[in-house]
Amino acid sequence: MTFSIHGLAVSRGIAIGRAVVVASSRMDVVHYFIRPDQVEAEILRARVARDAVIDELRRLQEEIPKDAPGELDALLEVHLMLLQDHALAEAIRHWITDRLYNAEWALTTQLEIISRQFDEMDDEYLRERKADLEQVVERILRHMKGAASPIPQLIAPQSGQQLPLDAAVETPLVLVAQDLSPADMLQFKRKVFVGFITAVGGKTSHTAIVARSMDIPAVVGARAASQLIRQDDWVIIDGNEGVVIVDPTPIILEEYSFRQRQNELERERLARLRYTPALTMDGQRVELLANIEQPSDGAAAVRAGAVGVGLFRTEFLFMGRSGNLPGEDEQYRAYCEVISSMQGMPITIRTLDVGADKPLDKAQPKDYYLNPALGLRAIRWSLADPVMFRTQLRAILRAAVHGPVKLLFPMLAHKSEIEQTLAQLRQAQSELDARGVQWGQVKLGAMIEIPAAALMVRSFLKYFDFLSIGTNDLIQYTLAIDRADEAVAHLYDPMHPAVLRLVAEVIAAANVAGKEVCVCGEMAGDLSMTRLLLGLGLRSFSMHPAQILAVKQEVLRADACKLAPWAQDVMDSESPASMLEH
Ligand code: PEP
Ligand code: MG
Repeated sequence: MTFSIHGLAVSRGIAIGRAVVVASSRMDVVHYFIRPDQVEAEILRARVARDAVIDELRRLQEEIPKDAPGELDALLEVHLMLLQDHALAEAIRHWITDRLYNAEWALTTQLEIISRQFDEMDDEYLRERKADLEQVVERILRHMKGAASPIPQLIAPQSGQQLPLDAAVETPLVLVAQDLSPADMLQFKRKVFVGFITAVGGKTSHTAIVARSMDIPAVVGARAASQLIRQDDWVIIDGNEGVVIVDPTPIILEEYSFRQRQNELERERLARLRYTPALTMDGQRVELLANIEQPSDGAAAVRAGAVGVGLFRTEFLFMGRSGNLPGEDEQYRAYCEVISSMQGMPITIRTLDVGADKPLDKAQPKDYYLNPALGLRAIRWSLADPVMFRTQLRAILRAAVHGPVKLLFPMLAHKSEIEQTLAQLRQAQSELDARGVQWGQVKLGAMIEIPAAALMVRSFLKYFDFLSIGTNDLIQYTLAIDRADEAVAHLYDPMHPAVLRLVAEVIAAANVAGKEVCVCGEMAGDLSMTRLLLGLGLRSFSMHPAQILAVKQEVLRADACKLAPWAQDVMDSESPASMLEH
């Protein structure tokens, strides 16, 4: 039966595919795609584990004391019957062969399907047999753990491992999960999943940002999605409207396929703007830059028409490595890769910004402090670990020999933090000098993403060559709204007058001081904000590459001179949002 689930639209476009529901089962298993030549071995692995459990249960049965209650024997008999069920073995074979799922994934997928069938049964006795099935599956999984396949995990990736993502799965697949970490998200390549749905998450959560950067339709905060959507259901993700349609009728499918084609046409039309200079109608030059997460994103940024990287979120180099952080040389190579792919265009490298919704590792307990967004994150983290911080600074300084690099520090708020940061930088430079290693000059920038920093912008301008406004955090901290919490997502308002006032004042102060200022939060790629930001005097926007040409189109249609007085009216209004709509 067709039904829809509403969530938050975080990444545009329409995706149609079959649902792969992960982590909805209470069993925490690894999920990855195998290669077609590994199918038989994987089926065998599943069978060996099942046979081992059968042997185990038979032994248990033999050892039952004579005076034990008869139910025990009957229970084991039920478990044995479930294990030997031909249909179960066949289903597992199907998931492994047709979908190239690893054995654990195949098993839990089938468990979910059967569990639902049990849930729908009228007979209470039969309904309760679901628990038996779960126990049986858990036993098999335990055996599989002992005989794990050497293929790396997809959904719980290990550091530095190459992932077999070139799965030859024909059917388009849509990933449905309760939650995904930003690092998990990065592991998914377009050819494996055509879209994502998560039950939790906010519009500017880092998971959403990564989905946008990959240009894959996504809806987050679709509560209960992982309970309501069943394995293999056909699903439509409308990433423009934030709607998920499950089990669509042929007419609905036809409608969305049509919209999908329209989107493609629109993209093709925009692609023509790639080499058009971003000038407003009155001839003002606007810089459209890319936000990237991985060194390999540089090439895509150039293809998307970016004239530089305005924000390289380096934390993604550090994530999911079980504490084995990249050393100076590895980082140096990563930064050089971006420099080389940007072909002489400027690159703004931001130092590590981990913490809050960007844990270094999944294992890091999420709630060991009460307010992670207010805790040890970003520059605070770096200053708390100066050895790690200087390693990164040295790698960036060395890379700066090869191209125009700007160095950006996240989440500064205190004068003392600025001073400590600059002292660490000087020390990193001295360390390179002491080693006789060459390093390049870099422009220094501060993220303005804490209201305190925005209010003290003039002091910041004394220390830094440029500013970058991180609206994602600036909104979060100004309005006290957790950017990753869908329960308060409706209050996360980029057009709140307080937010706009802070943004406007930072832009104005930088312009008066003759220093560069950029917006690199999601606001920069939000088409409804482009004209206002231009009117406020912003000339540098950094966003996920897929949005660059759409923003360029807005720029080309804008008359910056006329927008300036209008922007002031918007700022004076108590309801800026209504003025933007008009
Ligand atoms: C921001 O806060 O706006 C920003 C660009 O940084 P991040 O999203 O990585 O926190
Ligand atoms: Mg930020």
